[in-house]
Amino acid sequence: MESNDKKLQPINREEKFSFACHPGVPCFTECCRNLTLMLTPYDLLKLRKQLNMTSSDFIDKYTRLEFQNPSGFPVLFLEMKKNSEKTCPFLTADGCSVYEARPSACRIYPVARATKFHAVHGTLSEAFYLIREDHCRGFEQHRNWTVSEWLKDQELEEYLKRNDEWTEIIMHPSLKSGLSNQQRQFAYTLSYNLDTLKKIVLSGRLSTIFELSESYLTNLAKDDFELLNFGFQWLKFAFLGKTDLKLKRI
Ligand code: SF4
Ligand code: SF4
Repeated sequence: MESNDKKLQPINREEKFSFACHPGVPCFTECCRNLTLMLTPYDLLKLRKQLNMTSSDFIDKYTRLEFQNPSGFPVLFLEMKKNSEKTCPFLTADGCSVYEARPSACRIYPVARATKFHAVHGTLSEAFYLIREDHCRGFEQHRNWTVSEWLKDQELEEYLKRNDEWTEIIMHPSLKSGLSNQQRQFAYTLSYNLDTLKKIVLSGRLSTIFELSESYLTNLAKDDFELLNFGFQWLKFAFLGKTDLKLKRI
């Protein structure tokens, strides 16, 4: 999430900060407008499930596509409304209409988490910051949290796990030289457009490429969360050369 007058204050995982956000704060929903809000594949999946939409319909209605530098990896952003305040499409007078499935950027705020993967070992390191913005009055509320407590309260564990897996792919040094148009399309389908990936599963083509059991393939066709997991495995196989997937022996 981005806004003006922002200061980032480094904070440790077990360090406390004072914050609360609820309909009683004077700035309620002020932060839900004019945002550059990236949607991770897991964010998009959770949102469209909540709204009972296909991936194509959700993408068409709510997102815009950009390409990450320098790899050209496709990344979707939530498109703000075209009104004067550029409000989030999910903002209502009562607050967030998709609260249960709000994106990870909305959950973690006012904390920011930066991640880095070791170029050789792939080990993850993380750093946290408090985002202090003039309009946010949540810091005046007398409720204390450590960063760990905040992440747990906002039910971020699964989001961070899935997002880290994807971040490792899109930020990998092997992609620095840039993706071809065909690779971009492949990355887009496996990250975001699970309708298309499901069609590939149902076509039976996957079992001509990889060693996959019938029960696993049946599950992929039924469970979009498992499908996303498979999409990440395939991306790692294609771009990072590492995965549990095994090619079919001919
Ligand atoms: S998704 Fe919800 S919490 Fe996030 S910006 Fe939109 S209205 Fe606000
Ligand atoms: S307290 Fe901060 S996060 Fe909560 S509504 Fe106000 S501006 Fe948004």
